[in-house]
Amino acid sequence: MVPMNVSRRSRRALAVISAAALGLACAPLTACSTDSSRDADGAPLSVAVSFYPIQYLAQAVGGEHVNVTSVTPTNVEPHDYELAPKDVTALSATDLVAYVPGFQPSLDDALTEVSGPTVLDLSAAVTLTHHDGVEHDHEDGDDDEHADTTHAEHGEDADETEAADPHFWLDPVRMRSAAQAIETALAQADPDHAADYEANLAALTETLDGLDNDYSTGLAQCERSTFVTSHAAFGYLAERYGLTQASISGVDPESEPSPAELAAVKKIVQETGTTTIFTEDLVSPKTAEALAAETGATTAVLNPIESAPESGDYAAAMSTNLQELRTALSCK
Ligand SMILES: [Zn+2]
Repeated sequence: MVPMNVSRRSRRALAVISAAALGLACAPLTACSTDSSRDADGAPLSVAVSFYPIQYLAQAVGGEHVNVTSVTPTNVEPHDYELAPKDVTALSATDLVAYVPGFQPSLDDALTEVSGPTVLDLSAAVTLTHHDGVEHDHEDGDDDEHADTTHAEHGEDADETEAADPHFWLDPVRMRSAAQAIETALAQADPDHAADYEANLAALTETLDGLDNDYSTGLAQCERSTFVTSHAAFGYLAERYGLTQASISGVDPESEPSPAELAAVKKIVQETGTTTIFTEDLVSPKTAEALAAETGATTAVLNPIESAPESGDYAAAMSTNLQELRTALSCK
């Protein structure tokens, strides 16, 4: 895998060239057009997104004028999803790609190879920041070095470059900003339907504002403010609504916590009187269940919404999550 500092450099370069490249180069598989507007045949804009929450936004804003595909297949955990060569080829043939860098290194790399689509990097629009529990992959085998730190303390390690937390979509306010950026990109690519995109954005904004309001009021008066999750997906949500997230496995759902990290989470559970350990559908609940058994807590599902929900959509899953949080934190 490419070291983080290198891929960050290439991402910066990509952001600079992506707009300019539109008019200068056409990928072999892409019909060349003289400007960035949609194909003259009137076909829907072809939009590729990295994974579900961005797909939700692109579909809601684009409506009937877009054909949205997700690079990450449904029910696949998107962290570090590896693109197949055919996925890269498919990307080349799209009009617009919307993503956040740093979440799927394989997609970051692929986007340095394609020159057909406009590339919309949403990270600036949603103001990605570092959160405790978000760290680099331990590619250099330095796990032992940090065995005495919890995920919560990890970000303070001077040797660790602070990585941006990609999980912006669990904060409806940041989702609103991402929706705005997508609307701007769609209107530029397809000015004929700009009014539709604007109207769709208004409706979506109303939904997202409603979620924000529900969360603000629903989490205002709770007995506890710390919640324990499987992986550290809920940092922006916690920050927005005055809560504290403690996670079992940090930002990467696949990483195994060390015994010391597990002990630290167990201590948090005991000290905060936590009664619920949250699990998620695409990650094994084994560790969470063991922790719950040891502490007398129960488990419940909190959906990080990294893949399309089995029923309903992003907004419905967010509402379900709010009810789960309210129960876990004993909110009035
Ligand atoms: Zn995640």
